[in-house]
Amino acid sequence: MEWSVIRLIAHSGRRLNGLYPNFGKEPQNLILGLAIDGMNPYDTLSTQHSSWPVLLVIYKLSPWLCMKQKYMMLSMMISGPRQPRNDIDVYLSPLVEDLRNLWDEGVVVFDAFRKETFEMRAMLFCTINDFPANGNLSGYSAKGHHACPICEENTSYIQLKHGRKIVYSRHHRFLTPNHPYRRLKKGFNGIQEHNIALILLTGEQVYQWVQHLNTVFGKTQKKDKSKSCIWKKRSILFDHSYWFDLDIRHCIDVMHVEKNVCDSVIGKLLNIQGKTRMA
Ligand SMILES: [Zn+2]
Repeated sequence: MEWSVIRLIAHSGRRLNGLYPNFGKEPQNLILGLAIDGMNPYDTLSTQHSSWPVLLVIYKLSPWLCMKQKYMMLSMMISGPRQPRNDIDVYLSPLVEDLRNLWDEGVVVFDAFRKETFEMRAMLFCTINDFPANGNLSGYSAKGHHACPICEENTSYIQLKHGRKIVYSRHHRFLTPNHPYRRLKKGFNGIQEHNIALILLTGEQVYQWVQHLNTVFGKTQKKDKSKSCIWKKRSILFDHSYWFDLDIRHCIDVMHVEKNVCDSVIGKLLNIQGKTRMA
């Protein structure tokens, strides 16, 4: 991971501790991550099925514990013939309501070690997904010419003439100013990169974009293509009052994306039916 990202996460944590000192002081409060992805339990036997486990991960545990199966919570399973896509907010609303209660009021929990009760509160720190699920949760349109949720309308792209695929370029501008990759021409798009990294939108700025969007959930609704906007909806996660204060709200699970890319390449090379798509 780039050091700048690690610094940003550390800065975000410090800022939250400053904003919510009472929450940070209590070591038993939870900091949660939300991980969602689609899978098909029947694999090739039935393609008309999609299951979406919604997992909560406790990021306050040590890194070697928080990814253990027994510390992950399967909060719900969204199951149906199709992927929920943008309608995922409808399914998530009971969970978001519970998380809001956990933040606003807290719940009284018994501490078996100290033999006493305490009020536990919880914060959803970030979501962590692959790229399409990231788009579904954040409400950003993760397809088309402006697919990068950080560069937004300044996303640099090239559309291939024959295959019509879109190639996103110039992302080495996020490297440090003296990074040797910036001077490589052949490895990238033929020019040296001198531009600096773009600044992440804050929660407030995103909310300004999405607050007036009128989203109608449901598969039967026809989309109004005339009003295409790179933001598709006001994410339900904005129901959390602290969501505006988080510097990084939606993370990309790099290992997951690498697995998806590897699956696509192998599927294409071996011409496996249903897995030849090169997204
Ligand atoms: Zn970008």
